[in-house]
Amino acid sequence: MSVWASIEKSITETTGHAFAIRNQQPIGGGSINSAYRLDSDGQHYFVKLNQAHALDMFVAEAEGLHELARANAIRVPSPVCYGEAAGKSWLVSEFIVFGSGAGDSAQQLGRQLATMHRYTSKQFGWIRDNTIGSTPQQNSRTDSWDDFYRDRRLRFQFELAARNGFTGLLQAKGERLMESLNVFFTNYAPEASLLHGDLWGGNRAFDETGQPVIFDPAIYYGDREADIAMTELFGGFGAEFYAAYQEVWPLDAGYSVRKTLYNLYHILNHANLFGGGYASQAESMTDQLLAEI
Ligand code: ADP
Repeated sequence: MSVWASIEKSITETTGHAFAIRNQQPIGGGSINSAYRLDSDGQHYFVKLNQAHALDMFVAEAEGLHELARANAIRVPSPVCYGEAAGKSWLVSEFIVFGSGAGDSAQQLGRQLATMHRYTSKQFGWIRDNTIGSTPQQNSRTDSWDDFYRDRRLRFQFELAARNGFTGLLQAKGERLMESLNVFFTNYAPEASLLHGDLWGGNRAFDETGQPVIFDPAIYYGDREADIAMTELFGGFGAEFYAAYQEVWPLDAGYSVRKTLYNLYHILNHANLFGGGYASQAESMTDQLLAEI
């Protein structure tokens, strides 16, 4: 069966409404998968396609979207079904028509993200692993945030960097940073908040009514500062967003230092995915953090 026939069958079985693709339109903007809008009579879906080996990534994404929906704070696309056929894997979800945002959309997102971060767990991590970009992300649940962040986040990326040939000073400095990580958590014990996990500007939008939407998550339970740090990494969220977030749940004063610690994870991941320039950025961020010790 072709991949498209298999998607039609799966949508039909899951929703109970016959779905036959009338129109199929490619959608740009993604970094990992190819994406399409599928239209039937009065039904619209968003589908991501990849090689068959990516099925588990799509399963994790669907489960992540369900978990975000449970927090009932920010609109997320509802996943419909996923599967594999003809050497491809896919994830189908609700199609959301995006708009340009209303006057208070950025504030709404700030308030809603703080509400989402109030949705907490007893432990850091999650019930399953997922991916950050296409890199595996380990989420084994852990009682201590320092241990989780050091072992499941920084150490994982530093070791991957070594295997990718980023050895030498970056590694030596990374070791020193990981040995002294507790310094960044004196008098600060974060809650295990539900995080989007990959909250750069390209993973949020506004629907036609101006309501915020987040998608393409890499969820786990962790320090909410990690999500806020990522919003600052590539910019675009605006001053109103931060003011609204802080009105609901102010950030700790130490955030300005830990921001670099949290973004180091993403920059190391970028070095591992895209190479060289990001490795030197990771090294200078590590220098900056070592200067705080
Ligand atoms: P990738 O996993 O390849 O990074 P994304 O999840 O970022 O893909 O999706 C690619 C693009 O498709 C996004 O930039 C966004 O504009 C659009 N998009 C994502 N989810 C939906 C959706 N549910 N409905 C409509 N458009 C979507």
